[in-house]
Amino acid sequence: MGSLQDLVTNKYGFDLTEQQEDMVIRDLELIIEANATINLTRIVSWDSAMCRHIEDSLAGVPYVLAAPDGLYGDLGTGGGFPGIPMAIVTGRKTLLVDSVQKKMRVLDGVIHELGLSNQVSTYAGRIEDLAKQRRGEFAVLTARALSSLPSLLELASPLLKLHGRLVCYKANPSDAEMESMRKIVRKLGFSLPEMHQFDLEDGSHRTIMVFQKVSKASISLPRRIGLAQNEPLA
Ligand code: SAH
Repeated sequence: MGSLQDLVTNKYGFDLTEQQEDMVIRDLELIIEANATINLTRIVSWDSAMCRHIEDSLAGVPYVLAAPDGLYGDLGTGGGFPGIPMAIVTGRKTLLVDSVQKKMRVLDGVIHELGLSNQVSTYAGRIEDLAKQRRGEFAVLTARALSSLPSLLELASPLLKLHGRLVCYKANPSDAEMESMRKIVRKLGFSLPEMHQFDLEDGSHRTIMVFQKVSKASISLPRRIGLAQNEPLA
């Protein structure tokens, strides 16, 4: 990859300051370091991690910037992707959410090390439980490699305020997944998504889908823990 600053300006249409570039690179170094002791990512080489984690995370920046003002959450954040690079570039108040305590402890250390403690925090718990505590508080959410579209819409719906956005990072959603999404999208209070297709620098195909919350869900959410992912509505 050439310069990251040139790449994001030319390909994704936003500016990355030198300080932000240094911070996202430092983030990746810290995550790769931590990965020696806890499994956060399978990606091993620096170049592929720059592409699959940093470029991919940053590809969603324009859609998070375009969302209404307010709190940003990364659902199923794992090693903090796309959440930490997104927080660095957008400057939004951020909550990183994952049920695995050990991963969130690692991210707490990374947040501290990057000097982001006033802006970014972690929630070690289930998304369904967060929805009971922070209902309607989020302006924008991201999710990468977490679940199928119907499950994502169900998990995100109670967390988002009206006109809030859910930005889903996908490789190639299948026709069946798209069909299930269409069956349930309105019931969960969203309009049909904007679709953005592109290839990362290593050639892997990406689809970013942006859903807008346009009404309350017509069913009571969250359902019991696990149902959104184990027994999706469509
Ligand atoms: N977004 C990261 C990690 C994806 S792996 C990336 O793209 O690299 C999915 C993560 O979601 C795992 O860390 C898992 O612990 C978390 N997860 C799955 N279901 C969850 C739920 N219902 N509540 C909270 N975290 C969940």
